[in-house]
Amino acid sequence: MNNAAPQTIFLKDYKPFDYTIDSVELTFKLHPTATRVRSKIVFSPNPKAPESSPVTSPEASEGKRFFLHGEELRLISAAIDGASVTPREVAGGIEVDAPDAPFVWEAEVEISPETNTALEGLYMSNGMYCTQCEAEGFRKITYYPDRPDVMATFTVRVEGDLPVLLSNGNPVERGEGFAVWHDPWPKPSYLFALVAGDLVNHPGAFTTKSGKKVELNIWVRPGDEGKCAFGMQALKDSMKWDEDTYGREYDLDIFNIVAVDDFNMGAMENKGLNIFNSSCVLASKETSTDANFERIEGIIAHEYFHNWTGNRITCRDWFQLCLKEGLTVYRDQMFSGDMRSHAVKRIEEVLTLRARQFREDNGPLAHPVRPESFVEINNFYTATVYEKGAEIIGMLRRLIGDEAYRKGCDLYFERHDGEAVTIEDWLASFEEVAGRNLAQFKQWYSQAGTPRLKMSENWEDGTLTLTFTQTTPPTPGQSEKKPQVIPIATGLIGPNGDEVVPTTVLEMTEATQSFTFEGLGARPVASVLRDFSAPVILEREIDNDTRAFLLAHDTDPFQKWEMGRALAKDTLISMIVKDTKPSFAYLDAIKSVLADDTLDPAFRTLSLGLPSQDDLAQSLVDAGVVPDPQRIYDAREKLRHLLADHLHDVLPALYKENETGAFVPDAEGSGKRSLRLAVLGLLSLQDSGVTAKALYKRADNMTEQAGSLQALLAAGLGADELQAFEAQWKDDRLVMDKWFMMQVSFAAPDKAAELAEALSQHPAFTNRNPNRFRAVFGALTANHAGFHHASGAAYRLLADHLIALDALNPQTTARMSGAFETWTRYDADRQAMIRAELERILATPNLSRDTTEMVTRILSA
Ligand SMILES: [Zn+2]
Repeated sequence: MNNAAPQTIFLKDYKPFDYTIDSVELTFKLHPTATRVRSKIVFSPNPKAPESSPVTSPEASEGKRFFLHGEELRLISAAIDGASVTPREVAGGIEVDAPDAPFVWEAEVEISPETNTALEGLYMSNGMYCTQCEAEGFRKITYYPDRPDVMATFTVRVEGDLPVLLSNGNPVERGEGFAVWHDPWPKPSYLFALVAGDLVNHPGAFTTKSGKKVELNIWVRPGDEGKCAFGMQALKDSMKWDEDTYGREYDLDIFNIVAVDDFNMGAMENKGLNIFNSSCVLASKETSTDANFERIEGIIAHEYFHNWTGNRITCRDWFQLCLKEGLTVYRDQMFSGDMRSHAVKRIEEVLTLRARQFREDNGPLAHPVRPESFVEINNFYTATVYEKGAEIIGMLRRLIGDEAYRKGCDLYFERHDGEAVTIEDWLASFEEVAGRNLAQFKQWYSQAGTPRLKMSENWEDGTLTLTFTQTTPPTPGQSEKKPQVIPIATGLIGPNGDEVVPTTVLEMTEATQSFTFEGLGARPVASVLRDFSAPVILEREIDNDTRAFLLAHDTDPFQKWEMGRALAKDTLISMIVKDTKPSFAYLDAIKSVLADDTLDPAFRTLSLGLPSQDDLAQSLVDAGVVPDPQRIYDAREKLRHLLADHLHDVLPALYKENETGAFVPDAEGSGKRSLRLAVLGLLSLQDSGVTAKALYKRADNMTEQAGSLQALLAAGLGADELQAFEAQWKDDRLVMDKWFMMQVSFAAPDKAAELAEALSQHPAFTNRNPNRFRAVFGALTANHAGFHHASGAAYRLLADHLIALDALNPQTTARMSGAFETWTRYDADRQAMIRAELERILATPNLSRDTTEMVTRILSA
């Protein structure tokens, strides 16, 4: 797997490539084990390359050597300007002497898609050929300067005996056994795509605002045609939204989406030919939950939006990954908010940010949104680059205002279209339109760690003073931290519950800074960090009565939810640490939120949710307590039972009121179903699962079928339903992923590892399919008390399976090893067990550079 010696690459070493490419012509003769790829590439000296250094190979020190990336390729022939050449093999590619003038490179290589289990480059999935080139997969297809700043137009001829042959751009010619595609827009090789298979299409059409008609297709395996309509509508909505909101229009005659079962990521934005993990595009009410529908809508939008933020304007180098990802995540979040509910969406975003990014920022894998170095770029497709990257865009917009934000975007698109650019280029557009210096703001890209914001209040003669102090804890490689620019959206609520000062953005730039509100009649309650205006941890002295007051009166939905969450967390922490009974302040507050039918049902569902076990473990660490996973689990279970008791008189009515008619996967329907199923979870603790069993039998949609089964599993019931579920869905891969995942997620702590092990022996388990692997082992690591059970059985089991998977699929192995990133939180026994497993993984012969880098970083904690 690993034929290049691990080597650290630094941002500071960036140099432009010595040549530009005028055009690329590729011909593929497809064969499962011997695909031939012929390339004809026209190179010209790059006027922007440093003159003194025509050397491109990292190892070369003299002479005019021309370096091309290539991995796992069998070179058949190579020629420069028609004359045959014999390249030298060097680490990560080949080298050859080349003219310092325009020349034509021609090569033919052979590759084996069928044995490519890493799912990078050209590979096979259920008899279909497909590609994944981001970040560095194109070098497994042919020799090429596989770096994002080398952009070129591609013409691709695909030859094979499969009925559907696709590549990027527009179709040029099609005949028996071949198809030719031409992409007129210059692009880097990571956006290259090819698909060949026995596929059927769900067609659609879109007319752009300037009147151009675009053919749309979703390509799937025969039998899946009925699961494409929702994705197609999401695509059309995305195209319209990007025109209306950002003025961005689609630029080819055709837009193709293909669903693939075996895929490492969610989806990939290849120009004009998006490739999707089938779980992120196929949807039907029988097989997909509301959460699936919402995710599919968001991912289709995300990949489509990349057409401008990523494809037309791309990254100069992989250190700038957040330039396309943070921005595109921000755009898809805004789109989802417009399609559904901004308030609900924002709370969900913050839950994800805290669960994934804050966790990452607080451990050995912490890194800046723009990292300074990497060994394997695949390891930096992280919550920090994506989600914190998106938070930075949101802060920028908050600081300069909506109008300047849009003008800055327009200028960026106009100025850099067709270029590979940097964070500096992005920010310069906003500095120009907003007329302000963003030098300090830029630190958000370079400084890792989550800032802690301590707030104190002073009330005197009608003036409220809020004083904030910011500190950021040290992270790997960064001990000294500077003050950040933090927009703190704040409002004030009077004692009678009315808002006396609407949301105002306090702009903090110093380590300690005070803000005053004058001329106030009576002392108000401050609502601070509204809409979660910055990715920070706010620490304020606040009692439960004030929290309950804000929960009842705050006009900001995020803060309203946040206060309920803080009450729940406080209650749980004190149950865990001091063995106290839960506070009535919390129980009563939740009861009044639940009963308030002026509130969106989806919002009420979120308010009813308890903090996760992982979240509680971190809160305990922050309070100086070593977390005991079993104790956390027990307290949370106890509170769930107490909630069910306390709410027992309102649960049946809520269950009835939130019944929906015919299934429509929109915000209204999904909100009601989510509340109803959350209520069912509590009801099941009291009625021996009678209501849930009845719903399971009757359900005509997956949301209710899976939801009722989960309610049963969470109450320690559901064995018959699990069996029935398997019998019903054994032939549907995506639904079976749910079957694997649900049982492990809800397994009792002492049974989780045993169950995961048994499921890994199930005939339908395979580690060749990342979705299935994650369904079992992702669920095991998310089952906090089960994963961290004192026996250490889950640690051992995961390590065994990661070692086996690494030989097949380094990328997914490395990502899954992140489950161990919090290991230093726990007691000495658990730490010793995890360390032993990490060391065992690291000692595996031929371990991939992906996993080596991740495990080494985790161990350095
Ligand atoms: Zn993306």
